[in-house]
Amino acid sequence: MFDFKCDICGGNLIIKSNSNMGICENCGAKELVDKKDFEKYNDSYHAAVRDMNSGTIAGYKSAAEIFEEIPFMYDSKIRYSTCIEKIDELEADKKAERTRAAEFEKQSRRKKTFNKAARIIAVILIAIAAISAFIVIKQVIPSKLYDKAIDNIYEINTEKIEYYRSSALKLNDSAKLAEKFNDAAYSYSKELAEDENYKDAISLLSLITEYNDSGELIKEYTKLLNEQTYSRACDFYSKGKYKQALKLFQSLGNYKESK
Ligand SMILES: [Zn+2]
Repeated sequence: MFDFKCDICGGNLIIKSNSNMGICENCGAKELVDKKDFEKYNDSYHAAVRDMNSGTIAGYKSAAEIFEEIPFMYDSKIRYSTCIEKIDELEADKKAERTRAAEFEKQSRRKKTFNKAARIIAVILIAIAAISAFIVIKQVIPSKLYDKAIDNIYEINTEKIEYYRSSALKLNDSAKLAEKFNDAAYSYSKELAEDENYKDAISLLSLITEYNDSGELIKEYTKLLNEQTYSRACDFYSKGKYKQALKLFQSLGNYKESK
């Protein structure tokens, strides 16, 4: 590092104005310095100021290097300190920016992972809902419809029985469910026949003509019903209740000598 020295006390000469006049920082003496040297340092100083004004880390670094070499030129010492401060400041900003970017990257990765997981869960939930809906439509509803049809078997409401059974069949033709229904209708019709209620027994059996020996039972019960009607009609006749007797005989059609 080159310093201009005071001729009187040997102290450092500082250049304060835009001329080759130096002032001793020790005794305050004013001395002219070598003009060529002055011009060289003056050029360096202004080059450093330009670098500093760029406001970049590289600019401040280059300026600081020059100001450090020429502390005797004008305010180079102060400018040197300012450059160092600015470098620290900008590097800290840069580091913070990198940290922020890294954090953002991390968060967006996390978000992506979360979104992927959310999509998978949504697909699973939709699948579960679809399966549940399928089970409800294909199993639960038909089962309930068959249950209602069976309830109506005991009330011998053939219209309702047919309504519920055909609704169930539209949704599910499960043999197991149909079997439950057929079995209920079949066994209840037998109970009715045992109570000599052949009319209702026949009504029920005609809903399940293909089941077991339903067809045979219908023939058998029809025969029994006719005999029952005939004997009732005879009974009315013998008691002189001709009107009722006639009605029953008519309902028998060609049966025996009713005509
Ligand atoms: Zn001096």
